[in-house]
Amino acid sequence: MPGPGYAFFGTEEWENVKGAMSDWEATRTAYDKVPEIPVVRRFERSALDHFGANHCVAVSSGTAALVTALAALDIGPGDEVIVPGYTFLASIGAIIYSGATPIIAEIDESFTLDPADVESRITERTKAIMPVHMLGAPSDMDALTAIAQRHGLLILEDVAQACGASLHGRHLGTIGDAGTFSLNTFKVITCREGGFLLTNSPRTYQRAYSFHDQGWFPLEGQRNTDRGSGDLIFGLNFRLADLAAGVALAQLSKLDRVLATTRAAKRTLAEQISTHPRFTRRVLHDPDGECGTILAYIFNERADAQAVAKALGTKTMDDSGKHHYANMAQLQALGRGERVCPFRKPEPVSNRYDPGALPQTDDILQRSIALSVGVTDSYLGAGFGISVSSTPKQITHIAAQFRRAVASL
Ligand SMILES: *Cc1c(COP(=O)(O)O)cnc(C)c1O
Repeated sequence: MPGPGYAFFGTEEWENVKGAMSDWEATRTAYDKVPEIPVVRRFERSALDHFGANHCVAVSSGTAALVTALAALDIGPGDEVIVPGYTFLASIGAIIYSGATPIIAEIDESFTLDPADVESRITERTKAIMPVHMLGAPSDMDALTAIAQRHGLLILEDVAQACGASLHGRHLGTIGDAGTFSLNTFKVITCREGGFLLTNSPRTYQRAYSFHDQGWFPLEGQRNTDRGSGDLIFGLNFRLADLAAGVALAQLSKLDRVLATTRAAKRTLAEQISTHPRFTRRVLHDPDGECGTILAYIFNERADAQAVAKALGTKTMDDSGKHHYANMAQLQALGRGERVCPFRKPEPVSNRYDPGALPQTDDILQRSIALSVGVTDSYLGAGFGISVSSTPKQITHIAAQFRRAVASL
């Protein structure tokens, strides 16, 4: 089972999809009117209520949300965006398609951006920092916000893996200038393919809206207008399909329940694994605010992590395909000056993306193991663990297996 939201599918999802189909039926003769998409707008409003943001744009994927947010924040050629070297490839791919240059930075033992390293990479071209809230838990937004303010930078939060998580009571995705979410199969809640972005800025909202829907201005009353106020920009079509929005709306109403379940399962698993001198828990900037989808341990020694991973049939976290910069073939090709994106001029040759470029990140990931709790995704290294459907007996069994592997080191 990929993400925990799956386990919560039920009549609400079915009813919303049927409702969306009824809307089609009711409006099929409304030829030549720009159609209102009620269920998409209902999803957006419900996301605003849930997360406490001023504006929401629903889009077709988390990647679409990132590209839309970059366009909305006016990030493009000549700009640099600082992004962690441990993230899903899509965070970096979106920057590539914006025309800006991704500057990869170190993570610390929270598996999110190391603020001190971020600050050391700021140049006169830096336009934004993209914290990625990896594995369900917040980045150090207090430190990153202070850095952004000091240097006049934007913050774009990639919340794809941490939908519903918060930092000291503030929802992730509402702290920076914009926050983007994914609703794909492997995320906290899902509609198979979908995403959305949040922002508190009316201008960012207008630009995001226009970008995701062919330059239209946001809905004013009941219809789009091309004479709205704001920036005139070419858009593309990154709209969320209404059937998917129906599922997303139902899933959002269950988000708190999904999180309560993953958090409780994680607490039980962590208690039973307990502590050991050979490993520590991942650093959490807000233990009560994280999603609880993944339980990660950092060993003192790389060899220990490798031995335990092997015994459990899983991998250490540096082996997370497409989540570790050194495993992204496209990124290395970018560094070699190859044409990895047809929409931009190749970069000048640089060694900044070479394997080994981020020694602290490499070292931490080589010593770490991620156990699945709510998300099962072997790409995250979480090929071993429990799910939200696990019984107490199964949890005890998995904890015992982990402890046995550590005991036999
Ligand atoms: C999943 C993910 C994305 C992309 O989301 P899609 O909906 O698959 O496009 C972006 N960033 C991170 C960190 C992700 O985990």
